[in-house]
Amino acid sequence: MRASALFMPTVKEDPADAEAVSHRLMIRGGFVRQFAAGIYVILPLGWRVMRRICRIIREEMDRIGAVELSMPTLHPADVWQASGRYQAIGQEMFRLKDRGGRDMVLAMTHEEVFAWLAARELRSYRDLPQIWYQIQLKFRDEPRPKGGVLRVREFLMKDSYSFDLDEAGLEASYAKHIQAYDRIFARCGLEFLRVESDSGFMGGAQAHEYMAPSAAGEDRVAVCDSCGFAANVELARSVAHFPSVSPAAARGQAEGGTTGVGPLEVSTPEQRTIAEVASFLGVRPSDLIKTLVYVVEGTAERRYVVALLRGDHELHENKLARYVRGAVRPASAEEVLAATGVEIGFLGPVGLRERGLRLVADQALDPAGPAGSRGYVAGANKPHAHLTVVVGRDFQAEVADLREAQAGEGCPQCGRPLTIRQVIEVGNIFKLGTKYSVPLGATVLDEKGQERPLVMGSYGIGPARIAAAAVEQNHDERGIIWPKAIAPFDVQLVQLQTNDEQQTRVAAWLHDTLESSGLEVLWDDRDERPGFKFADAELIGCPVRITVGKKVREGKVEMERRRGGAREEVLVEEAVERARSLWEKAE
Ligand code: ATP
Ligand code: MG
Repeated sequence: MRASALFMPTVKEDPADAEAVSHRLMIRGGFVRQFAAGIYVILPLGWRVMRRICRIIREEMDRIGAVELSMPTLHPADVWQASGRYQAIGQEMFRLKDRGGRDMVLAMTHEEVFAWLAARELRSYRDLPQIWYQIQLKFRDEPRPKGGVLRVREFLMKDSYSFDLDEAGLEASYAKHIQAYDRIFARCGLEFLRVESDSGFMGGAQAHEYMAPSAAGEDRVAVCDSCGFAANVELARSVAHFPSVSPAAARGQAEGGTTGVGPLEVSTPEQRTIAEVASFLGVRPSDLIKTLVYVVEGTAERRYVVALLRGDHELHENKLARYVRGAVRPASAEEVLAATGVEIGFLGPVGLRERGLRLVADQALDPAGPAGSRGYVAGANKPHAHLTVVVGRDFQAEVADLREAQAGEGCPQCGRPLTIRQVIEVGNIFKLGTKYSVPLGATVLDEKGQERPLVMGSYGIGPARIAAAAVEQNHDERGIIWPKAIAPFDVQLVQLQTNDEQQTRVAAWLHDTLESSGLEVLWDDRDERPGFKFADAELIGCPVRITVGKKVREGKVEMERRRGGAREEVLVEEAVERARSLWEKAE
């Protein structure tokens, strides 16, 4: 394809608002343009990348026996009401009314609509198993659309749904998706991890996420390099370190006594944070207890829950949400005061149960655990004072895994140190069970003629996230280095003097011959300076570059790979073969 005929508006300067590398380079390389917050135009070069990614996805989905169809994106609200998600989902859902005043929604995902179809069309166990997929638009009013196409409000998703008679069938469909996904991400040239992920409040069901390690990612995963354990930190258990008790904390504990005597109070004027209190008392953060008040949303009774963590540990809100089986949010300062009667900085566990609050302590504080029964410093529930408290003696609490795994803590499987990696979620797979088939009436008759709800799975991939993650993982200071399978073109043919007839003849011949050998070639025939064209070639990042310049008089062209590798001179008659071999070797 001639660049002069391709609409490829590259830009010299970085866009002002771009944080992520992929955002910056995809704008500059002429791949995308922002239309509005979280809404993007995909330009011809970007669309070529998307098409290649979607093609790989289709090939691998077809290979596991999935069949492609296309679902509407405009839905009457009633299917969403049937599943309960119309009520459960908040502002993330785009809602509208039709001219008759009926409630409608724009598709955020398609579990309901696929279950609706299955309910009408699948009758018998003989119709099973089924895996249906589509590559279709999704609309989500994301609270924080990110720069670039990583988190947008309208995006393409490959989503598939499996329908089986029983758990064993679901297991098989799930395993097929693991196979397909492993191949899709590998073929797209991504470095990726398959990690265990949170399956929501329902518990039990299994889910995995596919994660591309990148500093631009919004998720974190805990990984064990020794045994291969990998899980999202919203789920990952870890073996905490148990530092010895600071002498000052030990003294407080002894003076308070381990039986009967009760907590010992110390004055802590204006010392509110963990760091302030620890340094004021000469103890370590790990000698303190953090008291965090949360609001459980959507429950009538017990609106508040108090999470207790060791001072050096961080709460993962999803772990708390899973434990209390409801969405949670931090209580505001006013809510804390209303619930406890105390200002946040001096809040502590002693006496809160008596005020009707539910207390949940992280496992690291469990007196029956490795820490044993020991003293900690916690807020005294009165201004400017803290207490030395012993869990179980001075207050009672439920025990649960609440803290976020930290780098260097022990792997839950083998005990070796965990690594924490920043990642981009590029796909996920999810065992739904009968969550949607029951409310939407998707049942079939089994061998005995008995009606049974379909057992479903759902599986998503964001093609644009694959593209952006690939850029995050493959670039240098000059531009993108596309993995060859998803590059917009295989070869970029740069003709330096467009008014030179010999150069035009050689470039045309190379273009045609390479194309007929199966490679896609972008022939830069634009009337621009050589420096401009070279810079664009680096920015756009196709795997192989051929330069047709003054050397054609000696029968030579130049060639190099975008990802490292030396520039070489090649005879024109050998250039096609050499370009093919460079492309073969490219990653
Ligand atoms: P996230 O946690 O990043 O919001 P999600 O769990 O909401 O993702 P799913 O609903 O499982 O994502 O969607 C499946 C896939 O669709 C994701 O793995 C991701 O690749 C893509 N995706 C989800 N939300 C967006 C978005 N706002 N913009 C672009 N791609 C998205
Ligand atoms: Mg989301």
